[in-house]
This record gives sequence, structure tokens and C-alpha cells, in this order.
Amino acid sequence: MVQPEERGNDQIGRMGGVVRRMDQLGRVVVPAEARRALGIRHGDLIETRLESGRVVIVKYEPVCAFCGGDEKLIELNDKCVCNDCVGALVEKTSRALIDDASARVYEELIHAGATPIR
Ligand SMILES: [Zn+2]
Repeated sequence: MVQPEERGNDQIGRMGGVVRRMDQLGRVVVPAEARRALGIRHGDLIETRLESGRVVIVKYEPVCAFCGGDEKLIELNDKCVCNDCVGALVEKTSRALIDDASARVYEELIHAGATPIR
């Protein structure tokens, strides 16, 4: 087995990456240099995914579940929604409620004796 090369306090693998040992719970410390480069700080959410047989670690950047936007986000049931999409949902919901209420009032007026003109 080829051992990583020691350099300072770290070990460097064949491909030039920092080599760290995984613990029994599957945890690996992301090197400070990589954390700084990605702007990752204590408490940040980290996304891991498999890509072509590799584990990719990126800082989790929430986006709107509807449009993919990343400004003025709120979280609802573990999904993010932006201010614009909240506005669009309110508008559609309001329109549907108004249409429904209008239809009911119209039917009640007809029932009460109003005469439809067209
Ligand atoms: Zn949105």
C-alpha cells in the first residue's frame, strides 16, 4: 500500500490532496484551508453528494424551491421560498378565493330573485 507523503502536520495523497483518517462514525475533518476557501464556518450547513464515484462537499446555499432564486428567502416545512414567489402564491390564492366567493354570491343573488342580464 502506498502511504501518503508527510508535509508539515498534514499528509499529502498521490493526487495532491490532504489525507485525513475517517473516524468510526464516518466523520472527517475538512482542512481549515478548504473551509476558508469555501467560506465555511462553524454551524454552516454542508451538502455532500456523490459525483462520478467521489464524495463532493460544498457549502449548502439555500435557494427558492419554485424559482431557484437566492434572495429574501424564508423556510417553510424544510423548503425555502423567496419573497417574490410568496407574493405570487398570495396573489393566486387570493384570486381563487375571490373567484369562489364571487360565484357563491352570484348564485345566492340569482336564488334570491335577481335577474341575470347576460
Ligand atoms: Zn422564488
